[in-house]
Amino acid sequence: MTVEQFADRHIGPGPDDERRMLEAVGHGSIDELMDAAIPEVIRWHGTLDLPAPATEREAIAELRALAARNTVAVSMIGLGYHGTHTPAVIRRNVLENPAWYTAYTPYQPEISQGRLEALLNFQTMVTDLTGLATANASMLDEATAAAEAMTLARRASKSRSTVYVVDADALPQTVAVLAGRAEPLGIEVRVVDLAVEELPAEFFGLHLQYPGASGAVRDHAPLVAAAHAVGALVTVAADLLALTVLRAPGRIGVDIAAGTTQRFGVPMGFGGPHAGYLAVRAGLERMLPGRLVGVSRDAAGNPAYRLALQTREQHIRREKATSNICTAQVLLAVMAGMYAVYHGPDGLRRIAWRTHEMAVRLAAGLRAGGVRVDDVAFFDTVTAVVPGGAARVVAAAQARGVNLRLVDADRVGVSCDETTTVAHLAAVWAAFGVDPVDGDVERALPAALTRDGDFLTHPVFRSHHSETAMLRYLRRLADFDYALDRGMIPLGSCTMKLNATTEMEPVTWPEFAHLHPFAPDAQTAGYRELIGQLEGWLAEVTGYDAVSVQPNAGSQGELAGLLAIRAYHRDRGDTHRDVCLIPSSAHGTNAASAVMAGMRVVVVGCDTDGNVDLVDLDAKIDKHRDALAAIMVTYPSTHGVYETGIASLCAKVHDAGGQVYVDGANLNALVGFAKPGRFGADVSHLNLHKTFCIPHGGGGPGVGPVAVRAHLAAYLPGDPSGARVQGAPAISAARYGSAGILPIPWAYLRMMGAAGLARATGVAVLAANYVAVRLREHFPVLYAGNKGLVAHECILDLRPLSKATGVSVDDVAKRLIDYGFHAPTMSFPVAGTLMVEPTESEDLAELDRFCDAMIAIRVEIDKVASGQWPAGDNPLANAPHTAAMVAGDQWPHPYPRSVGAYPGGVDRAGKYWPPVRRVDGAYGDRNLMCSCPAPEAFEG
Ligand SMILES: *Cc1c(COP(=O)(O)O)cnc(C)c1O
Repeated sequence: MTVEQFADRHIGPGPDDERRMLEAVGHGSIDELMDAAIPEVIRWHGTLDLPAPATEREAIAELRALAARNTVAVSMIGLGYHGTHTPAVIRRNVLENPAWYTAYTPYQPEISQGRLEALLNFQTMVTDLTGLATANASMLDEATAAAEAMTLARRASKSRSTVYVVDADALPQTVAVLAGRAEPLGIEVRVVDLAVEELPAEFFGLHLQYPGASGAVRDHAPLVAAAHAVGALVTVAADLLALTVLRAPGRIGVDIAAGTTQRFGVPMGFGGPHAGYLAVRAGLERMLPGRLVGVSRDAAGNPAYRLALQTREQHIRREKATSNICTAQVLLAVMAGMYAVYHGPDGLRRIAWRTHEMAVRLAAGLRAGGVRVDDVAFFDTVTAVVPGGAARVVAAAQARGVNLRLVDADRVGVSCDETTTVAHLAAVWAAFGVDPVDGDVERALPAALTRDGDFLTHPVFRSHHSETAMLRYLRRLADFDYALDRGMIPLGSCTMKLNATTEMEPVTWPEFAHLHPFAPDAQTAGYRELIGQLEGWLAEVTGYDAVSVQPNAGSQGELAGLLAIRAYHRDRGDTHRDVCLIPSSAHGTNAASAVMAGMRVVVVGCDTDGNVDLVDLDAKIDKHRDALAAIMVTYPSTHGVYETGIASLCAKVHDAGGQVYVDGANLNALVGFAKPGRFGADVSHLNLHKTFCIPHGGGGPGVGPVAVRAHLAAYLPGDPSGARVQGAPAISAARYGSAGILPIPWAYLRMMGAAGLARATGVAVLAANYVAVRLREHFPVLYAGNKGLVAHECILDLRPLSKATGVSVDDVAKRLIDYGFHAPTMSFPVAGTLMVEPTESEDLAELDRFCDAMIAIRVEIDKVASGQWPAGDNPLANAPHTAAMVAGDQWPHPYPRSVGAYPGGVDRAGKYWPPVRRVDGAYGDRNLMCSCPAPEAFEG
């Protein structure tokens, strides 16, 4: 009896497709192709030791069983993670909707106007609530946002001090992450209890929590003034729900606000993913890390959105980098922004006041029962003092299904949120042994600290409050965008493969969605088993000995891996080893991570075939032998080639005492065929949002596990939750990072099994080579390895054509939109080229549709070259064509409208129409505007 294999659904080409592709590429079988493509020195010939593949039904059943071993308690722990009601219209139409979750980062703005508008809403929400000038489009979590704020303060402050003061009432996980980030940079984090202690005489920055972890709401104005007086910048980590009723940080001159937007409708997910935020006062916007959405205009002069300051790539500037963040939390930022759109300012205020009133009532009951409650203003969190009895109270509450915060032996923290009910309060009172109280309560915020003035005044926050209006707004924006649900996204290095529905389903189950990251272990057995299995399978796939899923993006995995290397050298007394070699072909984020890990970047050149230049490598090793800490290489390289020199490269670095970091972003070319942990590497990060099917979400979430060999295992990221601090620094705010999306790669590995994974790799390499073969005569393929073969992606060189015709790589990318495609990766890693990565999920028909479009575009370029079409006015220069343009009353162009709108074999009925014409990025950068434009801007 044959069983249906999930691998046959995941992998696009069927047996007939495969045969035809192999024929075109000139190999008899996938094995034969892989034998030819992959250098024998790294080839691994075993079968992955993974459980036999489950069907989709079986995998769901196993996940149900794991979920059943988690306990969903009422969470009143607080500490930056709160219960929240995700509006169902947002859950189904954003979080569970592939139109949103399968989109890529909006680098091609013309096909991304929907999510760009959603992110602009998010930015506007953050700037309005914090009272600051500019907010970016999300950070990975609150703790890493606070860390970015710290380094921003370092760059912007005129103080020469290396001291960063952190108030003792900051979230413990934030303090843990700040300390870990500060140490390699020579920053001293000094925790000071500012409720009772003085500020030091000199410091460059100050971090305050608002409200504090204890719940306390204090007037920070005197501290802000004192910090400014010594040239320090002030960051306030502020709770956005509290800010709907509390004075905005911007009102007292705060420089930076950082935090999380989790409680705006995003489930806790046992730690993530949620969107962190970062906002700055006027004058600091060009120093802001992360992605920033701004308003510009299109070729017709209409307003259009795009990522601002991209041409500048303001933060990832290789060795001058100030931040390594790439993948952020777009999907979650979209949700949080939509929560504000759905509720509007009045709804948010109502939720905030109700939450506050619950806390006031809670405190009143405790006091009436004789329990001491800290005598300080609070918003949603109360700290109760029970000398010697805190653990007993916490246990009694747990027995009633409520989790409280055990502050220390004498104190218990209780946080209220949107989901708190009177029954929950009754359970808490019972745990403290006091009687319930009822009756009306008075709001109890000091007048001086309450908010004045309106917020979220833009019409978008006041127009979509009915279910119908909200549904249609979400549909309208989704329709603006091109995601994997429309067609192929052949982005090199990004691995835009299928995200199967079965993989996605568990994410919104309550047993995975509603767990607090600091919930007691007894309630999280299912999660921890799932994570343990996933880490074990990833170790098997990569050949490493230990894996941590804590890093919540590839960039964070890089930093974690480099910090492990650094700690290893230091423990062996090699404190002077601080040079990190990085090939010139590397992703910019590699160098940025090295800088953040306190290393000096030394660039190694590439030879004319695109391989790491081993002669230059020898020279650089010789020059830095005693200081060599590591080399960081991507394998296969970002040139899309399996380099044969990799094994000798590893040996050379090891001989000089350095460690080898292999960037695992391209693991989709290795799984089942080679293991970095076996061919000489010491550490890698993986991108679960590339190779292992977590969808890109329009630019996040992601997960970037770090995998190491045994000698580095002790240096994997530590647990940031105060209770169990370990030796190594934490890399994100939660022990398991973005745990909420780990069921996705778990399901992928569980359903693919060893044979399915290896076949996926083989078909991915076959597909890339098929595209290379079909396009080679039209666009030169820049690099190839063994026998002229590429790995899982190929670089098409447009430079000679551009030089001869003036048609740019941008023109080709935009023209592909008219043909119904998302452009390949543009100008990375080589300017003027396109990098194509088809992945194993696209079938032959889609691959051919793409190749046909590229070939047709080549014919169009020839028409420009021959003068048939003028250089400045042709379908390439004018691409993309909007419906408004081709249906307009004027058509002054020297080619028919149909050529503009329906080139090649474009499906006329199902055509994707971009909502705007080509976006002028430079205009928007000169006239920086990063919040929602007034509706009048769209008139005419
Ligand atoms: C995607 C990528 C990264 C960055 O990973 P994020 O998850 O976006 O932080 C680093 N290196 C390479 C080669 C990549 O392709």
